[in-house]
Amino acid sequence: MCDHDRPIRPPATAMSRRAFVTRAAIGAGVALVSTVAPWRVMAAGNTEALLLSCMDYRLMDDIVRYMDGRGLTDRYDHVILAGAALGVLNDKYPAWGQTFWDHVGVAIELHHIAKIIVMDHRDCGAYKVFLGPDVAKDAATERAAHAAEMHKLRAEIGRRHPGLAVELLLMDLAGRVETIA
Ligand SMILES: [Zn+2]
Repeated sequence: MCDHDRPIRPPATAMSRRAFVTRAAIGAGVALVSTVAPWRVMAAGNTEALLLSCMDYRLMDDIVRYMDGRGLTDRYDHVILAGAALGVLNDKYPAWGQTFWDHVGVAIELHHIAKIIVMDHRDCGAYKVFLGPDVAKDAATERAAHAAEMHKLRAEIGRRHPGLAVELLLMDLAGRVETIA
C-alpha cells in the first residue's frame, strides 16, 4: 500500500479531535458557532427518571395515569420504542437501540436523571413479531419472556451507566402494573 492510500488522519498532536475538526472546518471557510455539545447550551434542569415504554396506542393513557399516580407528573423523560426493552435489544433494527442509548445520554446530560424505568406490557405485538407468537401463549411464559429481556437491558444499562438505578415493570391491558425483580 503506498502512502496516499492511507486514510487521512489528524496531525499527531495533543489537539482533541473536536478541536481539529473545528479548525479544519474554519479553515475550509465554514463558520462554527460553538464547539460545545449542543445539550449544554439548552435550558437544563433536573428530573427524576427516564421512562422507556412501548408505542402501543391502547396503553398511552394507562401509562400517564400510572406515572401520575406515582407523583411523577411532568417529572420524567419518555422514550417510546415498539417492544420497550426488546425494542432496544432486538437484532432486526439495531438503530432503535442506538436511539435509546443516545437519548439516555441526553437525559443524563440535560436532566440529570437518576433512574431508568423500563415498562414492558402484556399482549405486545413487537414481542410476537421478534420472538414468535408462542411468546405469549400463556401468562407465565409471557412474563418470563419480558423478564428475560428486561434483565438483559438492566445489565446493559448497568454496564454503560453504573450510576443509574433501574426499575422493571410489566403492565397488563387493564393498566395494572407488576414489578419485575
Ligand atoms: Zn407493545
